[in-house]
Amino acid sequence: MASGRNIIVLLLLAFVSKTFSETIIQMHPIAHRANADDNGSGYYCESWRYSVETNDAGEWRNIPARCIDFVRDYITGERYRSDLEIVAENSLDFVKNVTMIGDGKDAWVFDIDETLLSNVPYYAAHGYGSETFNEKSFNHWVGLAEAPALPASLRLYNELNQMGVTLILLTGREEFQRNATEKNLLDAGFSHWKKLLLREPSDKEKPATTYKSEKRKEIENEGYTIHGCSGDQWSDLRGYAMGIRSFKLPNPMYYIP
Ligand SMILES: [Mg+2]
Repeated sequence: MASGRNIIVLLLLAFVSKTFSETIIQMHPIAHRANADDNGSGYYCESWRYSVETNDAGEWRNIPARCIDFVRDYITGERYRSDLEIVAENSLDFVKNVTMIGDGKDAWVFDIDETLLSNVPYYAAHGYGSETFNEKSFNHWVGLAEAPALPASLRLYNELNQMGVTLILLTGREEFQRNATEKNLLDAGFSHWKKLLLREPSDKEKPATTYKSEKRKEIENEGYTIHGCSGDQWSDLRGYAMGIRSFKLPNPMYYIP
């Protein structure tokens, strides 16, 4: 009799288990369809942002039209600030465990735009990256030297400086923008960099990945150990002579190959 009850209990459990697993399996497509139809108000833009930050999306040109408001809210809101804080914390956690050589050759390579300085005031007036890039207009903005510091990056930068790490700035800005860039950096609180490397005329047509790899290789050839690279573009971090660790800052506004 007892074994008969056990068989009934087992059958009941099997029935319940099958019913629940079918329910769970059936829920996913329904949920997925709901998100795909949300017109940008739900998960689509979050997922798009994930795909561009991880570089799963590869080269992309335009923010999806339905995500322009999402990008605006992100880049002007607390989430962007919080993401930058975590990247800076991760960078510090890493560097605090690095064994420094201590001969002045321990280096960290920073990109500038959207890494140390924020061009959000410019992009706010130009659709948060949704408009076609206008070089003349952007160069005018750079010439004003008014880009504010990204606070988390400034703290990381200053801590690295205090630790004796050599700070090297490697930017896609051009040599003719050196004075405005130096003024902007100093006004925003950055100082004590060892090198500020800008594109020379011979670099103008090179993809950023090529130009930045070449420059990092020159840095290594001078005897530096690049412990870390910080950049908002994958082209700041990929290629060769990449350093020991890369730290990708968020930027859903534009992509530079
Ligand atoms: Mg940048």
